[in-house]
Amino acid sequence: MRHQIVAGNWKMHKNLSETHVLLDELIELLPTGKEVEVIVAPAFTNLASAVNHLEGTNIQVAAQNMHQAEGGAFTGEISAQMLLSVGVETVIIGHSERRHYFKETDAILADKVNTALRHNMRVIYCIGEELKDRESKQYLNVNFNQLRDGLFHLSKAQWEHIVIAYEPVWAIGTGETATPEQAQEIHAFIRQEIERQYDKTVAENTSILYGGSVKPNNAKEIFSKPDVDGGLIGGAALVAADFAAIVAAI
Ligand code: PEP
Repeated sequence: MRHQIVAGNWKMHKNLSETHVLLDELIELLPTGKEVEVIVAPAFTNLASAVNHLEGTNIQVAAQNMHQAEGGAFTGEISAQMLLSVGVETVIIGHSERRHYFKETDAILADKVNTALRHNMRVIYCIGEELKDRESKQYLNVNFNQLRDGLFHLSKAQWEHIVIAYEPVWAIGTGETATPEQAQEIHAFIRQEIERQYDKTVAENTSILYGGSVKPNNAKEIFSKPDVDGGLIGGAALVAADFAAIVAAI
């Protein structure tokens, strides 16, 4: 069965000492005894230290990105085996900021997914439409194309390692949130398309997270929808009390 997950994407925030402070606050404030996986994704420079800091807790560490090559002359990049060597087994791939600012196409992202899976890593794969796609009523097509081009080449068995994050670009960091009904519509659509491509078991076992201005005051309503299995949280993940409240809302 699929898991409920709340993941915090820290983006390019928090240096090493700030990372430790936020992790200590989370250890203190996160609710215990909940059936929810909690993941944090600090910057590359702080991953190894975060893994050590969180030893013995239930909080997992993910990377925000990785390169698709096994290694070599790719100045400034980080490989799957480098992440694994510091204890990071989950990676976010396809965040809209990577697609937009770093021109990561679906083909590049599919390569990254393949590399991560070759190393037995878990992938949180982000998809989501822009405002213009919603306004022109193309949002289902856009989400379908991203899903198909990034993930539909995988085998059924590989889907065990895939988590999807639906993140409408117009809701990321804008304070504008999809309504719970809008989120449910897309999540149900994603699950239906996974079932169409694979089967009901794969569809039912895939966790689909919502991301886009999730805050303590809207998390409960969004998470209450049947096809929403948790959230990928940006801004609110940087404030321990807010992130803890969002985890508690599951
Ligand atoms: C994100 O960047 O993945 C995100 C959802 O950001 P925010 O929560 O700040 O909208």
